[in-house]
Amino acid sequence: MTAGGKSEGSEAAEELEADKIRLVMALRRQGIRDGRVLSAIERVPREAFVTGSFVEQAYDDHALPIECGQTISQPYVVAYMTEKLEVGERMKVLEVGTGSGYQAAVLAQLCRRVYTIERYRTLLNDAVKRFEILGFHNITAQVGDGGKGWPEQAPFDRIIVTAAAPEIPLELANQLKVGGIMVVPVDVDGEQGGQMGGQKLVRLTRHEDGANVEELLPVRFVPLVEGVARES
Ligand code: SAH
Repeated sequence: MTAGGKSEGSEAAEELEADKIRLVMALRRQGIRDGRVLSAIERVPREAFVTGSFVEQAYDDHALPIECGQTISQPYVVAYMTEKLEVGERMKVLEVGTGSGYQAAVLAQLCRRVYTIERYRTLLNDAVKRFEILGFHNITAQVGDGGKGWPEQAPFDRIIVTAAAPEIPLELANQLKVGGIMVVPVDVDGEQGGQMGGQKLVRLTRHEDGANVEELLPVRFVPLVEGVARES
């Protein structure tokens, strides 16, 4: 107990809540205008998707390390990508790169069902536990090579890739419905950066006979790696 009579735990929780409100206000100032996206960010406790000392930094606007040498994306980038995806409430969305599960949880607030795929079993199992604890029941998660998409569940209304691809992944674009949108970070020089080299965020909209491609922001993501990870 502190002098004020509150337990340290509840003070920490109040501080996180205040940090979260500050973050949402900052996202709005930075141009995130979709109220549905902002309230999805408000509803998902980012502190539940990081561990240890990173919990205190849960609402700082930067990427944080997670298990297996991967990262949970920066909140601004999550909000921006989600906004650009224009998710509707009846939609079926594919995410490649579950990581901590945070982006999937944000999407799950906005659509009918999220299918998310991760190459590390450790990360996937942790993410699934979080979805259960938080009561997010409209997320289906599996271990696999997300570069190949999820053919059994295709076509999707929306696809989001949260790892950088060497070029626009056509195998994924082919799993979009006509009119569907994919947002994906792509290496700028067409060579897989590996060390998180230059990347741009690309938005692809599928049409009857092709696709429209727009370049959005410069970004930094971990690379999209082929195959399921071998873990000891
Ligand atoms: N969306 C995540 C951030 C993920 S970081 C979050 O909200 O926390 C990118 C993730 O993509 C990493 O966990 C990495 O293991 C995964 N990844 C990379 N290549 C992949 C592939 N081919 N298939 C599935 N997941 C992949």
